[in-house]
Amino acid sequence: MGTAQRKRLRTIPEKPDLFDQLPDELVLHILSKLSSSASRPSDFINIVITCKRLKKFALDPFVLSKAGVKTFAMKAERWSDPAHQFLKQCVNAGNREALYTLGMIRFYCLQNRGSGASLMAKAAIKSHALALYSLAVIQFNGSGGSKNDKNLRAGVALCARAAVLGHIDALRELGHCLQDGYGVPRNIVQGRRFLVQANAKELALSLRSMLTWKPQQKHVEEQQNLHYACTVRGPAITGCPLLSDFGCNVPAREAHPVNGFLKEWFESRRGVLDHGLRLCSHGSCGRPETRPHEFRRCSVCGAVNYCSRGCQALDWKLRHQVECIPAEQWQGILEDGGDHGFGGMVEIEEGEDVALVE
Ligand SMILES: [Zn+2]
Ligand SMILES: [Zn+2]
Repeated sequence: MGTAQRKRLRTIPEKPDLFDQLPDELVLHILSKLSSSASRPSDFINIVITCKRLKKFALDPFVLSKAGVKTFAMKAERWSDPAHQFLKQCVNAGNREALYTLGMIRFYCLQNRGSGASLMAKAAIKSHALALYSLAVIQFNGSGGSKNDKNLRAGVALCARAAVLGHIDALRELGHCLQDGYGVPRNIVQGRRFLVQANAKELALSLRSMLTWKPQQKHVEEQQNLHYACTVRGPAITGCPLLSDFGCNVPAREAHPVNGFLKEWFESRRGVLDHGLRLCSHGSCGRPETRPHEFRRCSVCGAVNYCSRGCQALDWKLRHQVECIPAEQWQGILEDGGDHGFGGMVEIEEGEDVALVE
C-alpha cells in the first residue's frame, strides 16, 4: 500500500487503516512465506520499498533467514553494493542459500577465495548439498591455489556427504573416483554400484517430473536445496527419460541461479578472466579456471574443458557428443553396429586421465 494511499485512508475517520492493525507476528509470518516463495528478487524487493512498516519487517532476520533461492537469483549486470549488502544481511540471518550464493560469487567472481570458501563451508555445515559438492570441485581442482593444492581425499569426502544428501552429480563423481582409485582406494564394484544408483535416482526424478512436476509446489525452503541438486528441468519432457550413463536421453537438470550469475558475469565481461583462463564448457556451469590449465580437457578434440566429471558427462549428453567425434568415427560406429559402450560416454571417459593438461 502506497504512502499516499495510506494518507488518504487516514483522512476518513470511519475507515481506519486495517493494515496498521495487523499484529506484527502475522505480518512477519506473511513476509517469511513471501520471501521463501518469491520467484524473482523483485517479488521481494517491491515489498521492501512499499512502506516503512513493511521494510522494517521484510529486513527482519526471521524473514531473511527464510528467503528462498530465487530471491537471490539476481542478474550479474545488476550486481551492486546494495545487492551485496542484502546478501550479507541474509547471511547474517543464517540463510543457507545466501551463504552458498555469496560464497560462490565471492570465490569465483570477486576472487575473494578465502571468504568465499568460508561462506560455502558454513552452508555445507548446514547440510547444503550444492555447497558440499562445490567445495568438492574446488578440492579436486585445487581451485584458488596451485595444482599441489589439490586434495583428492577431501574432495571424495565432500562428495560422499553431498551424495548422502541426495546430490546426483556427487554420487556419480564418487562412483567414478572409486572405479578409478582417484582420492580413494580403488573399488570397481562399489563404484559401479554408485553409478547405477545415480542413474536410478535420475530415472526416478525424470519419471516423477513427468507425472507430477508442479513448480508452484516446490517453494518449501527445505526442498530448494535438493531441488536444484537433483531435479530435471520443467514439466515438459522431451525424449525418453532413461539411464543417462547408458546412452539414453534424460532431460537437462535445472542449474542453480548462481551458476547463471557466474556465466553472465564472465560472458558480459563484468568480470575479466586473466589471460589463458577459460570457463567450464558445460553451458549451465559458469565456473572459471583460477589458474591456467586447471580444468581437464576432452581427450578426443581437446577443444572443451570441464571443472568436473559431472559437467563433462552432462555436456557430453546435451551437446558435445555431436560436435566432438570426427566424422570418420561416426562412420565406423554406424558400420560395426554401434558397439562402443555406453552411447559414446566411454570414448570420453577413457581418455580423461591422459587428457589432463598440467
Ligand atoms: Zn563445470
Ligand atoms: Zn571433445
